Amino acid sequence: MSNKKSGHGVSPGIAIGHAWRIEHDLTEIFEVSIAQDQIEDEVSRFRRAVRMARQQLRDIRNNIPDSTRADVTDFIDTHLLMLEDSMLTSAPVELIRDSQCNAEWALKSQRDALAAVFDQMDDPYLRTRKDDVDHVVKRIMQNLLKQETLGANDVNPQLKGAIILAYDLTPAETILLQHQGIAGFVTETGGPLSHTAILARNLEIPAVVGLAISRSIHEGDMLILDGDNGLLIQADNQETLDTYHRKQRDIEHRRTILDGLKNTPSITLDGIPVHLYANIERREDVRIARRYNADGIGLYRTEFLFMNRQDIPDEQEQYQEYSAVIKSLQGLPLTIRTLDIGADKCADFLVSSPRKQINPALGLRAVRLCLKYTDLFSIQLRAILRASAKGPVRLMVPMLSNESEILQMLQLIENIKAELRANHIEFDESLAIGGMIEIPAAALTATSFARHLDFLSIGTNDLIQYTLAIDRLDDEVTYLYDPAHPAVLRLIQMTISAGKSNDIPVSMCGEMAGDLKYTRLLLGMGLTDFSVSPSALLKIKEVINQTSIEKLDPVIRNILSSDSSSEIQQHLDTLNKA
Ligand code: PEP
Ligand code: MG
Repeated sequence: MSNKKSGHGVSPGIAIGHAWRIEHDLTEIFEVSIAQDQIEDEVSRFRRAVRMARQQLRDIRNNIPDSTRADVTDFIDTHLLMLEDSMLTSAPVELIRDSQCNAEWALKSQRDALAAVFDQMDDPYLRTRKDDVDHVVKRIMQNLLKQETLGANDVNPQLKGAIILAYDLTPAETILLQHQGIAGFVTETGGPLSHTAILARNLEIPAVVGLAISRSIHEGDMLILDGDNGLLIQADNQETLDTYHRKQRDIEHRRTILDGLKNTPSITLDGIPVHLYANIERREDVRIARRYNADGIGLYRTEFLFMNRQDIPDEQEQYQEYSAVIKSLQGLPLTIRTLDIGADKCADFLVSSPRKQINPALGLRAVRLCLKYTDLFSIQLRAILRASAKGPVRLMVPMLSNESEILQMLQLIENIKAELRANHIEFDESLAIGGMIEIPAAALTATSFARHLDFLSIGTNDLIQYTLAIDRLDDEVTYLYDPAHPAVLRLIQMTISAGKSNDIPVSMCGEMAGDLKYTRLLLGMGLTDFSVSPSALLKIKEVINQTSIEKLDPVIRNILSSDSSSEIQQHLDTLNKA
């Protein structure tokens, strides 16, 4: 039996290598009082440690190879910026002077104060930014304590092929370790949203975090790290090793095949080009979308900018955020979805609303809320319109259910455009305005939608929820979730046909679009614009490139004319095996 421990797998892949421990070496910090006449020397010692930290990070930054530069420099830049922030540079100096204490103690006290602020944040993403403070503090502290750190130009042959065991790793350490050719890493702290975890995924280093590392592992022991399943295994028998070597080869083989698709166009065997866009929630996600060569962003869920905060982002903040996304897309098209708040995506500013909704998924959410609070909506529309001057943008409105809502929304946009023109503020005059089809009523009247709008996008997550009357948040009814239910397929078909007969594009941005099981079915139904989570992009492209739409036709007809879910499943199997 091999000894196995589990944590969170945050970066997939299998690593097999020898154990190498990086001790958590920030020894206990104690307060030492400093004599009055030595205070300024202590301040200089602290400032020197900060300067050294800056220089070390710049060296690391300059040594990042071009192949990974775009992906990883941001992480180092974030820390360099923090090294300019008075919270970490001036506040400890004040503490040294006011409390007459040593630099280490001042830095630790300031770190604890900042950590307490982060701990109170609701947003798990922001909460994990506490790691960034810790990582910057760690580097300054190591300089104060004169601890040895791996430098940008150091080479340690023992690290090659090693599985690193550490209490915590900073992004900078992770980059340096990758240069040394490590096979993978395990840390005791951290979660899937930490920068180190994100970096591990970007650098494709298998990694597990949040795992209590056993003291019985000695340096040099043979280990297996399973990043998909979050496992660390002490490889003490040949059988286990052989099994994981096999898995490793299979994964490598798959990855090479998928990587090879990054630069190939997505086109069916019978020559139909298919657009593959990515869904994003935050500006940071653009990087991953670009990495998989997405054709653009088919769904940018702007509500995430409104969540986990007390205030509402003003026009300027929104404008800057949207402009930043446009800039990082470097000319690729961006579909910005207007605020889809309410139901499962709650914002603090809504909590104060006096009336509790009985059935929030059917209540005042998304465009309904925006049309009630037009001030809120207008601010966002102005921000999007202004940002549209910066690059190719489309504006998409969620949860439309009838013509009246479409007309109100279009009128509001026209009013804002007139205002912008009057004030000589630039925007894209030909900005495409589209609507999501995610309510059965919208699909059933999609022709009317298509007459008023420039494009449609099918939101299957909600469309399935409303068609099958299954609350998407309720686990008890998940078993009823069926994208291939005949009723759902008919609504999708109606929407695609409405787009075709009105000559406007129709895309799909719900999870169904990224589920390989339905790729051929959707292609056969005439869908040529998919917007999926970035990690699904290449797998979907692989299926597209192996499909001849013409040949699917008879099976598709059988599927669309069937009322039996089990029959549809059988046809789907035939379709996917062909
Ligand atoms: C959908 O409903 O399919 C969709 C893409 O929107 P969201 O998941 O954000 O509701
Ligand atoms: Mg939706």
